[in-house]
Amino acid sequence: MRVMRREAFFALFLAAALLVFSAVFAKGTAARAYSQTAAQPLQTEENEQVTQGSSVSLPVLMYHSVLKDPSRTGEYVITPEALENDLAYFKKNSYTAVSGAQVFAFVKNGTPLPEKPVMITFDDGHLNNLTYCAPLMEKYGMKCTVNVVGAFTVQAEKENDPNPYYAYLTREDIAAMEESGFFEIGCHTYNLHSVNGRRGAKKNSWESTEEYIDVLLRDVEKWRSSTQLGSTTQLGSAAEPERCVYAYPYGYYSEEGFEALRQQGFTVFLTCKEAGNNITYSGENFVKLNRYNRSGLVQTDEFMNGIGI
Ligand SMILES: [Zn+2]
Repeated sequence: MRVMRREAFFALFLAAALLVFSAVFAKGTAARAYSQTAAQPLQTEENEQVTQGSSVSLPVLMYHSVLKDPSRTGEYVITPEALENDLAYFKKNSYTAVSGAQVFAFVKNGTPLPEKPVMITFDDGHLNNLTYCAPLMEKYGMKCTVNVVGAFTVQAEKENDPNPYYAYLTREDIAAMEESGFFEIGCHTYNLHSVNGRRGAKKNSWESTEEYIDVLLRDVEKWRSSTQLGSTTQLGSAAEPERCVYAYPYGYYSEEGFEALRQQGFTVFLTCKEAGNNITYSGENFVKLNRYNRSGLVQTDEFMNGIGI
């Protein structure tokens, strides 16, 4: 009996040793295969840090409305079929969709990004983003950032007419989207989505920096309460979803407001400058990104070739 127990123990030990050995071997092989093919110093292995100063190319796409009716297609409206073609293109070409939070973690801390990251963003907070994008994001295992205008959310809750053609997201929709894991919610201001008077979130030439910052901060406060159910005191706390993206309406911004917004927890600033990005692990506490408007008037291949991806 005693001998059998020892034999059993030995067999168990052998099996465990074999398991550890094969795991180490497999990891070594994967790491070698990666280092042979990687063109950039960026590492994708878990728990591995990126060397400070490393850069990665990050295309950011800007979508708006998604509608089935092809006669509605335009600069800011795309069909769900075209959106699916884009996602299929990303998948086929080994692109991985990343969130603003992931982008910032790379820039600030060197947290590795997938080898070919792409950021998919939707502006304005259309209800049709939930109707048509959610099933596609789930199907392709991708995530996107939806930049919501707070005043539109208030309007949607007041009107209570959930028609994907013209309605906007409510706080309940937003909460469900954040819960799903396929959506990150960004700030597209509460009520600065206009070019009549102030140009977006840009400083007026006649106002002082203090007055301007006051406008921005009041707007952010209202944006929070209009886009979040429950407590809105502290973004990023355990009870609050992580929201670090600030998308400037129409791309207008002023440097004077930057630091105040950063102190509110925003670290990823989206503009409308149509260009790519080369983001660097620099330790910097914010990142500003250019975006390509994804017009619904061009085919997937033509658009992707046009932006060089
Ligand atoms: Zn907008």
